Amino acid sequence: MLLTISTTHTPATDLGFLLHKHPDNVRTVSFPFGDAHVFFPEAGDDRCTAALLVEVDPVGLVRRRGGRGGRNGGGAESFSLAGYVNDRPYAASSLLSVVLGKVFGTAMAGRCDQRPGLADQALPVEVEIPVLPCRGGEAVLRSLFEPLGYDVASERVGLDDRFPDWGDSRYLSVRLGGTVRLADLLAHLYVLLPVLDDDKHYWVGDDEARKLMDKGGGWLADHPARDLITRRYLRHRRSLAEGVLAQLAEDDPDEPGAADEEHDREEGQVETPLGLDRQRLDAVVEVLVAAGAARVLDLGCGEGRLVRALLDQPGVEQVTGVDVSPRALERAAARLRLDRLPERQRGRVALLHGSLTYRDSRFAGFDAAALVEVVEHLDPPRVAALEQVVFAHAGPPTVVLTTPNREHNVRFGGVPAGSLRHRDHRFEWTRAELAAWAQRVADDHGYAVRLAPIGAEDPEVGPPTQMAVFSR
Ligand code: SAH
Repeated sequence: MLLTISTTHTPATDLGFLLHKHPDNVRTVSFPFGDAHVFFPEAGDDRCTAALLVEVDPVGLVRRRGGRGGRNGGGAESFSLAGYVNDRPYAASSLLSVVLGKVFGTAMAGRCDQRPGLADQALPVEVEIPVLPCRGGEAVLRSLFEPLGYDVASERVGLDDRFPDWGDSRYLSVRLGGTVRLADLLAHLYVLLPVLDDDKHYWVGDDEARKLMDKGGGWLADHPARDLITRRYLRHRRSLAEGVLAQLAEDDPDEPGAADEEHDREEGQVETPLGLDRQRLDAVVEVLVAAGAARVLDLGCGEGRLVRALLDQPGVEQVTGVDVSPRALERAAARLRLDRLPERQRGRVALLHGSLTYRDSRFAGFDAAALVEVVEHLDPPRVAALEQVVFAHAGPPTVVLTTPNREHNVRFGGVPAGSLRHRDHRFEWTRAELAAWAQRVADDHGYAVRLAPIGAEDPEVGPPTQMAVFSR
């Protein structure tokens, strides 16, 4: 498998700094499926080309599967000839994406310590992949790369040059041209090569969904082929693909799941007469202040109302808001006037794009985490992921969570019996349901939990909002 990246940026040898590879050297990295070599066939001031050559060992690939399971099933089937005679050695595929992630990981993360600023610059680039399996042919190839601003050229690869009559193979020889940050180019290739191949050759797990969110976070949400990309990328795990799509959809006002003003309007129509928003905020701030939390993580921060309120508390040193919706984060930044805050105040706030259902090292080291009206936006199967991320991995001493009390909905004139307060709520818990979940989570992760009402408590159906405060 071969992939080359060229640039005509001057000096073109900056490419070596960006990729963290010296143009004079050949770098070889071993993988379980073969060796990857990085070298520079040309390295002049006007044009520089980096080549990534992956020598796949198809027999080793099969043997390492140990004849148990694997793509060919078990037993006698694992001796299928296809395991030994296949296109892996030369067709660019998901293996190439694995190699890119490892060999150019720092470049993909946009880091270039030796030439600060260079990593942020869009450079003229040309990518060539002489043999690329493209399911769906040139049309799919174009639909993936053109919306990202690339010029796409491709030719069908003949089955065998010596026998033109045999016709074309299912491979394309591909050329992409564009002006792009190198980190973005690598992320695009990392996600889209397996999508074109549509055949993952290694385990697709939760971690893969995380990788897709990481690498695709900035550009995938608006990509017209977003659904195809996500489904194919995560093809073996449909539910995972749907989880990621649901999160990307949080950005899209045309789909259910939109985190836009409408959310506030709809829920506000139901709840405003009670001033419930204010009461909720006050209750959460009170809990956090009482806990003496200096560093607070607001998960699902939306437009940053809690972040704003916490900045007014002298005991709170730092607040980090996290949301899956870039649009919500933009609004939060505007509401907080981040660009106009004095330096000292500015240092107290961070807004991060991320998801509370994916383990994230940025969530560590806080005194408290808040989840205000967020849990009900997750698909029920993803609540277990939230539990792991918040209580097992981040594990701050205090966690405060608020969520609607479904029993109370009958008291809201506008909510038909049995339905939820907002179309993006995936579920709403009764008091007993929240109590059972919270107690189980507390027991499993070494917390104590107390429950408290928010808003006027109705003798029959309880308060409109309920809160769980976990501490350890
Ligand atoms: N806590 C805020 C916003 C509540 S609305 C407030 O009380 O005002 C729910 C928010 O959760 C939305 O902004 C939505 O984008 C966000 N959200 C939904 N799923 C998420 C996820 N998996 N990770 C992070 N944020 C999420």
